[in-house]
Amino acid sequence: MHKKNSLTIHILIGLVLGALVGIATSYLPEGSLRDVWLIEGIFELVGSMFINAIKLLVIPLVFISLVCGVSALGDITRLGRIGGKTMAFYLISTSIAIALALIVAQQIKPGSGLDMTKLVEQQPSINAPQSLVKTLQKIVPENPFMAMAEGNMLQIIFMALLVGIAATMSGEAAKPVLDIFESANEVIMKMVVIIMYFAPYGVFALIAKTFATVGFDAMLPLIKYTITVLLVLLLHITVVYMLALRGLGKLDPIKFFKNFLPAMSVGFSTASSSATLPITIETVEKRCGVSKSVASFTLPLGATINMDGTAIMQGVAVVFIAQVYQIDLTLGSFLTVILTATLASIGTAGVPGVGLITLAMVLESINLPVEGIALIIGIDRLLDMSRTAVNISGDAVCTLLVAKSEKEFDLEIYESDNTDD
Ligand code: ASP
Repeated sequence: MHKKNSLTIHILIGLVLGALVGIATSYLPEGSLRDVWLIEGIFELVGSMFINAIKLLVIPLVFISLVCGVSALGDITRLGRIGGKTMAFYLISTSIAIALALIVAQQIKPGSGLDMTKLVEQQPSINAPQSLVKTLQKIVPENPFMAMAEGNMLQIIFMALLVGIAATMSGEAAKPVLDIFESANEVIMKMVVIIMYFAPYGVFALIAKTFATVGFDAMLPLIKYTITVLLVLLLHITVVYMLALRGLGKLDPIKFFKNFLPAMSVGFSTASSSATLPITIETVEKRCGVSKSVASFTLPLGATINMDGTAIMQGVAVVFIAQVYQIDLTLGSFLTVILTATLASIGTAGVPGVGLITLAMVLESINLPVEGIALIIGIDRLLDMSRTAVNISGDAVCTLLVAKSEKEFDLEIYESDNTDD
């Protein structure tokens, strides 16, 4: 916990120093110190190594964690009704979250006014937007290794789903394989931690290069991006969750937030749904009145596959990055983003920073430059904290609704004041 907070502080220091150094650099006279040594030298080297390290993890991370996620669904079929309701809520709420993010971001236009096209040597290959039929057709890979080598995310997801479903259907016989996937998953997560350790330097270099190249102009769009993400997170909590609690569960939504606040604050400070899980379970059972049998199933599943807050960040980021690179998004791209971000949410592990890595997959699915992540990585840690609080709230709201409909819920506990703990 202490270490995590100090990483956050270091990243923020990297961000602020990067911005200051970048702005100062932009005022240096043109010449080899500014252009060769700093912008195309140190900043470029450190920044691109950091981005490469993130990209390196995308394919194994998505593939392995999706296989693990799908095999967790094996229990769902067994749990039948509860599983079906939980999955439906998780998938629908995530799709609503991302659609909301796309719509609001399109209105606010956080990226307008910042032109990053001068930062890319060659323009991203966006050409003619692909038709939906072509996109759908290409989801099924002919060759799994080619799909991975090309980094074709939709194909990789398809493969992962197929492997996960087949492994689940194989039952006991597939246990050794799934154990290997689980253990590989742990290793990949550790790699994320290692790479995050270098984040302050990466962030410093990336932000410095951004500000040195585009100067002060970069500041306003970044602030607009942050505000847009926070706004949509708030909207999702207040409109979608509250309406769901009131409409579907006939429950007082204000009571929910009063009850659930302790877990939200732990989610916020750890930026990790998984790390918060014990607190989430405890809070949902003891303060919200959900039975153990429901909470112990829906919450771990939610911490693994349901990330509404992350999907919101990804939706806003897609619009932001498309705008700064001056790329128009078609209806087909929006639909692809809704699909891939919902799947990305399943593949995003509940630990800090992973949402930014799976964002690479969402960007790639519609041919947006992954380098755009460099722009937002500096402020991501703060947004990560906020979106994690939303991620776990989504899990809790779903759990409450499922428990209520299954009569595994104690209204008296939910409505009591809970002042004793
Ligand atoms: N930190 C998020 C969580 O644990 C995941 C992410 O968006 O990076 O829920």
